[in-house]
Amino acid sequence: MDKPFIRTAQDLRKLPNYLESVDPQAQPLSKILVGYFLETEHLCGLKSCHQPHKEGFLVELENGKLTNVGWKCGERFGDRFALERTKYAERELRPKAIRTIQDAMAKIRAMKEELATLASDADRLSQCKQGMRNQLPKLYKELDRRAHSGNAQVVEQVERTKQEIDNLYEMNPGAGRERFRYREEARGILPGLHVISDNIRENVIVQLTGKAETLLTADIGPLSTDKLLDWERWALRFDSMVERAHATVKGGTQLFSPESFRLMSYLTTVHTERSALSKLTSEALLKDVAAPKDAGKPTAEPLKLSKKQQDIQKRLEATLRNAKRLGY
Ligand SMILES: [Zn+2]
Repeated sequence: MDKPFIRTAQDLRKLPNYLESVDPQAQPLSKILVGYFLETEHLCGLKSCHQPHKEGFLVELENGKLTNVGWKCGERFGDRFALERTKYAERELRPKAIRTIQDAMAKIRAMKEELATLASDADRLSQCKQGMRNQLPKLYKELDRRAHSGNAQVVEQVERTKQEIDNLYEMNPGAGRERFRYREEARGILPGLHVISDNIRENVIVQLTGKAETLLTADIGPLSTDKLLDWERWALRFDSMVERAHATVKGGTQLFSPESFRLMSYLTTVHTERSALSKLTSEALLKDVAAPKDAGKPTAEPLKLSKKQQDIQKRLEATLRNAKRLGY
């Protein structure tokens, strides 16, 4: 039968020959028709299960009837299910992954220069961070603390005049005069502070530009289906990674600028750091930082996967193991 489009429980129920309850021993599996991801949960079609789920397969039975099973429960149909699941991955998921990856490759080819610039900018900013950590350690610690708490406001503690303190003390007698000694004056907002807590090298060079370069020189045809699905996930994240890389470079360029260095001088109590900041340039930050040997090189490091991606990955590995065991 044709592959139906399934998004809701209703889409399943309205299928001709659809059964809501099936005994996998009495009604053996013929094949997996299509995988689905439902908007709301629906019960598993296996008599011994009937658990609500969102993700599973529409399957055809040997008697021509249809039912639905969770991605794991299908195993109650026996080895046949593992075999069919692998076939399904090869037949449906593999070509789709290849199309997505090829689209991404075309995109990468068209923006080679943009990616190269992102890589070299990111490399430079990463070294600026390193330089700042080496040269102004107290300040860097404060920036790091603020980056993690998202506090980019810079204020200066200004000493009040004796007259001001007298006035305040008169209005609020009781505790000591000392608490009125300073007032805070806003000096500005540090731009691009998030760059301090971002891992620039990992996000831009390792995960984006390095992998883009690897993909361009790769022959994807012979890759295993699970490798292709890895690359497909990467390809689907490509645009947002590019966007994020641009934001990082923009933020970093603003952060490592003379205007920001002047603002930063309010954030350190160390005199040598304060005076260094008054004449600091981003070039000066780079002077004692050696570029790592592998900067910009493509990497074979595995992608960082989300919880859901890890589940999919585990499932797929199980499928492939089964397939191997069955000599598929
Ligand atoms: Zn089930």
